Amino acid sequence: SKVTVGLLFGGCSGEHEVSIASARAIALALQTGENLSKYEVQPFYIRKDGVWEAPGVAQKVLDQGTALPSATQTQRWVFPAEVADVQVWFPIVHGPNGEDGTLQGLLQLMQVPYVGSGPLASAMGMDKLAMKQAFAAAGLPQVKYLAATREQIWSDPCVFSKLCHRIETELGYPCFIKPANLGSSVGISKATTRKELEAALDNAASYDRRLIIEAGVMAREVECAVLGNHHPQASVLGEISFSSDFYDYETKYTAGQADLAIPADLPPEITQRIQEMALQAFLAIDAAGLSRLDFFYLEATGEILINEINTLPGFTATSMYPQLWRATGVPFDQLVDQLLQFAQEDRHPSP
Ligand code: ADP
Ligand code: MG
Ligand code: MG
Repeated sequence: SKVTVGLLFGGCSGEHEVSIASARAIALALQTGENLSKYEVQPFYIRKDGVWEAPGVAQKVLDQGTALPSATQTQRWVFPAEVADVQVWFPIVHGPNGEDGTLQGLLQLMQVPYVGSGPLASAMGMDKLAMKQAFAAAGLPQVKYLAATREQIWSDPCVFSKLCHRIETELGYPCFIKPANLGSSVGISKATTRKELEAALDNAASYDRRLIIEAGVMAREVECAVLGNHHPQASVLGEISFSSDFYDYETKYTAGQADLAIPADLPPEITQRIQEMALQAFLAIDAAGLSRLDFFYLEATGEILINEINTLPGFTATSMYPQLWRATGVPFDQLVDQLLQFAQEDRHPSP
């Protein structure tokens, strides 16, 4: 008897197309080797407006690899009948309403196991302020940062000018201005002058009510993949390099703009330290299943700072997360199988 896997993809975020590419790779892996006799795939596609499509339409989207337009009549909260057959969900929906705990809450309500973190860890991973607070509480080193709200930016020019002054004195330039809840570098700018800072705050405020401003560091960007539940494992490390000013949206999603080095060329003690920090950070937010942990390595001082956790990282055949596991000895189809196993195991066993 095969296990019916609900492969859930698409979604409302800017990473809709990435999600389709990830789902195609996962669907293929579920129809490969030993997975073929273990799993039966039922794809479900979430259009950009949030409407769910049944396996018939979803399979066509997977085959074509391109998004469908938003539905003409909005039918949110009408789920395809096939949802009832799903025995384990594999949600591969990125960004807001996908990896921020909202979708995980829905799957939790369905009382069907699912791959990845639960609502709390997903929400904390998406919210850069909550994430940083959890990492600080776990003693993990990070860049200096300040929190701000849209109200401080948009209501009173005096309050706004005070905020800018505080950023300049406490963080200095360059600094990074980010919406608290997004991803894919959307809404993020680097500022080196007061003028740029003002524009960056105004821009980020248009994406989110809460913002984070960070001291900019000159660092190598190193990533670690984590797999498992309460006894997670860390992969070999990968390094991203690019010639743009920072790892912005265009650099992330334009082929040939960024290079991945796997494994990263780092001293063994640095590698080990980053792997330890990755596991600590994973446990600090109570993540489950998978996460990609991103770090800054300041070569000049030897400092390692944690940048962020991504609880549903890109999962295409060429994405960092599966590539890191491939280099660690876990090929793509085994990785998908293991994630489905971890989804079905008791995440909070009694001691
Ligand atoms: P996202 O969740 O959208 O990926 P990140 O916080 O990872 O947002 O920022 C995106 C990119 O911006 C990073 O990969 C890095 O290149 C650059 N960046 C972000 N914060 C800093 C910082 N404090 N110092 C230097 N570079 C940064
Ligand atoms: Mg992120
Ligand atoms: Mg990032």
